[in-house]
Amino acid sequence: MKSRCEDADKEGEDADEHLPVSSPPSSVSPHPSSITVAGEDACNTSITSKHRGRGHTKQGRDDRIPCGKHISDVSLHGTVSAHAGKNLNGLVHERALHVRATGKILQGKSETNGNYVTIHASKNIQDARQEDGFKLARKRRPVTVDISKAKTSLEALKLSIKQLKWKEFPLGRRAACDIYWHGVSFHDNENIVSGQVNKFPGMIEMLRKINLSRAVRTMQELFPEEYNFYPRSWILPEEYQQFSTQIRMVRENDATVNPTFIVKPDGGSQGDGIYLIRDPSDLKLMTGSQAKQAVVQEYIQKPLLIDKLKFDIRLYVLIKSLEPLEIYIAKEGLTRFCTEPYQEPSQKNLSHVFMHLTNYSLNVHSGNFVHSDSQSTGSKRTLSSVLYRLAAKGVDIKKVWSDIIALVIKTVIAVVPELKVYYQADIPPGKPGPTCFQILGFDILLMKNLKPVLLEVNSNPSMRIEHEKEVAPGVFEYVPSPVDEEVKVGVIRDTLRLMDPGHKKPSIAGGSEHRDEIPMEAGTRERSPDEGGLPSLCLKQVYPKYTKQFNFLRLVERIAALFIRFLGVKGNMRLGPTAFRTFIRTCKLSNSNFTMASVDILYIDITRRWLGTVPDSREAGMGLQAFVEAFFFLAGRRFKSLVLREQVVSLLELCEAQLESQSGGEDRRSVSCSRALPRAVNSQTLGLLHAATGGCQPDVVCSDDSDIHHRHR
Ligand code: ADP
Repeated sequence: MKSRCEDADKEGEDADEHLPVSSPPSSVSPHPSSITVAGEDACNTSITSKHRGRGHTKQGRDDRIPCGKHISDVSLHGTVSAHAGKNLNGLVHERALHVRATGKILQGKSETNGNYVTIHASKNIQDARQEDGFKLARKRRPVTVDISKAKTSLEALKLSIKQLKWKEFPLGRRAACDIYWHGVSFHDNENIVSGQVNKFPGMIEMLRKINLSRAVRTMQELFPEEYNFYPRSWILPEEYQQFSTQIRMVRENDATVNPTFIVKPDGGSQGDGIYLIRDPSDLKLMTGSQAKQAVVQEYIQKPLLIDKLKFDIRLYVLIKSLEPLEIYIAKEGLTRFCTEPYQEPSQKNLSHVFMHLTNYSLNVHSGNFVHSDSQSTGSKRTLSSVLYRLAAKGVDIKKVWSDIIALVIKTVIAVVPELKVYYQADIPPGKPGPTCFQILGFDILLMKNLKPVLLEVNSNPSMRIEHEKEVAPGVFEYVPSPVDEEVKVGVIRDTLRLMDPGHKKPSIAGGSEHRDEIPMEAGTRERSPDEGGLPSLCLKQVYPKYTKQFNFLRLVERIAALFIRFLGVKGNMRLGPTAFRTFIRTCKLSNSNFTMASVDILYIDITRRWLGTVPDSREAGMGLQAFVEAFFFLAGRRFKSLVLREQVVSLLELCEAQLESQSGGEDRRSVSCSRALPRAVNSQTLGLLHAATGGCQPDVVCSDDSDIHHRHR
């Protein structure tokens, strides 16, 4: 939601099997720096939230990223990279070279500035392949892209299309296009019945601060240890009382504790309306006569500092498909620096935005903002340059990167259930419609102890490749920003490559079914024969790649599958009382202790409370979040002796078994989008699984794997 101008930079290394980042080569001298490493986990302060739902540049040569596991290979190709041009492509290719050295060269090619150099014996095979590729390219018509609604992404998009030699339609097109690029939302163009759109319906809504907090909170209830990367948050105005009470209790327990909180307006972006408080009485609760919708969040007091400055990370993430779930992470990101040296919050400095808020849009107006041509200095730097500095200080950046990947996957898993509800409402099964994909912008803060913390997810990350410059006093002009151009064009171009309809099998819910492709590395797998001159992909597949480690988290998706099944009317997003009763009856959840009258009371009670919390809800009935609350309640009632997660798994199994038996196993569509765990998995197994995976880092192999690729429509 930040939009406008964030930043962007280059891409990194080979993010192969494990992590894209590795220690820097000893031959490359890092910057001297003042990195502070130590600290506490601010996410784990003693404030407990029990409620759920409602009540409840050119970069300097020696800074070139050593991101990549084959760092030693960097020197191997040093001479080649020395030829890299200073232009966009040059940078991209040079980087790819650093990273890819080993794995991709085995393909028989190495990249220089956009050209392939044959380096091994497989020349004949390669020539034959290339020839095939050219023939294919000649036969294929170019992919068509409607760019009429691209808005601020337009420049980066046009450059990407040019690099791909695809065909753009600046004014739209009567006939259908293969791809529609929307600047804002799924609905920018109405009545699209085919092709692919770069936005999912409902993504904007889901990623608003309140909804994201709710979705993560539900996951925190089920998997508290897995979701401790999100600061404790309270939703205003509805949770004002809980917030005040909890803070008071914390202070009463320990007078030395004086936490700080950050208040963020629900629909805000670019730091707008954000302020810090130390006491609940400082909350600005009203706008005129209306209660302000906002999230108040624990403030991370001890961020990692570089050059004494606070910074955050902008990471680009592609959701290629919801069903099956496919997630890619850009190997390069941006870091945005504050412009005033950081001090822990005190009553005196609470209002110092240039000290506490990393937003580019704010800091650019500070006299201290540095527009640097180098990717490793200035107020906007590449993530890789920052990781490099950390590595030079002995930081285990592999672990940092692995934690970041885990954070991204877990966050996506938290929002997918509701996205599926939006999806089926906008593009009901059986109705012609496009499939969807979307680039998201993750904002992540590294704490002093190097733990990544999720700040927010932007449904419309800025894809601008220019920045504002004051060319004369008071006169601003947009000037090209090479760093932005490099990163953002890479992300858009490679997103398009991944979505190339010529390389996609038809599927549902915005995706291609390619289970067989899982073992293949994105960089090689996705290369098409007619992409000869393009650099290897800067997007790394992380899901389903790390299915084994994260699949067990997809419980709410299974609840959503039940919910969707009982929605009934196409286009609906809410369950009526009759549909809720049908759900209870079909799954045989009522009995003499829990009569249908109690079911009705439960329905009324929960929907009434949720109605007040969703101000813009036009539809009556029970939304997914309310249904999840009801489901948790039913699970708790039925399996009293278990902990919540086990209760939910048990009830899901019961419901799914009922549905399966009734449909004779034929209609599996709604049984599960992601049957995460084998039937026999019990609470102990869950506990062990979690323990065994050490919090499920992506580079750790879990013993349990299961099929997540049930089609559910
Ligand atoms: P916006 O969408 O308005 O930019 P963010 O959630 O990204 O809202 O917050 C703006 C900035 O505030 C972030 O870039 C970060 O620097 C700072 N910030 C946000 N949340 C926290 C937090 N919980 N602890 C510390 N700093 C935070």
